[in-house]
Amino acid sequence: MYILLMGPPGAGKGTQAEKLVEKFEIPHISTGDMFRAAVKEGTELGKQAKACMDAGQLVPDSVTIGIVKERLAKPDCKQGFILDGFPRTIEQADALDRTLAELGIRLNRVINISVPAADLVSRATGRRICKSCGATYHIIFKPATLTDKCDKCTGDLYQRDDDREETITKRLAVYSAQTKPLVEYYQDKGLYTEIDGRQPIDKVLSDIVASLRGE
Ligand SMILES: [Zn+2]
Repeated sequence: MYILLMGPPGAGKGTQAEKLVEKFEIPHISTGDMFRAAVKEGTELGKQAKACMDAGQLVPDSVTIGIVKERLAKPDCKQGFILDGFPRTIEQADALDRTLAELGIRLNRVINISVPAADLVSRATGRRICKSCGATYHIIFKPATLTDKCDKCTGDLYQRDDDREETITKRLAVYSAQTKPLVEYYQDKGLYTEIDGRQPIDKVLSDIVASLRGE
């Protein structure tokens, strides 16, 4: 099963990727992991990527695409993969197309776990974390007994900067602007499926599986 997985931050993409890995016994390939592995293995492209990252520069497309290509050619991808975080642009999508064609692979589906921005904002902004033990709570979905104290260790609960409304809203706007052309790109190819990420985790998974099986 060759899957391209998309979804805004906080939509539960990581959780679904984990479940798909178990179900289909295929690797989950995220851009971050791919870069880290290439750097660690010290491949030529890995070295180039590291030099850019160390210099605080964006890794050029030619390097990113090269790393993706090397990763997808590995034996563990023979039965499929879940690609996550790539492509981010139409140029990268075209490059991925060519790479897959060279490898004789056809994508089964492009799955987008979709959650309206307002829901993502309320999910994220409700998150509270214990300063002492790191336990996580949510003011709506998993409230602590006392609003600002940890149930486990009575430590103070706080909100991470990353979970503040301005931060989330900005991140979602960037994501959405970046993703829109890709959605159209894969819609045109008849590969795109949007899954309602507001549903319970198991229902999201069964919807994804049904879509992969062409149901
Ligand atoms: Zn605690």
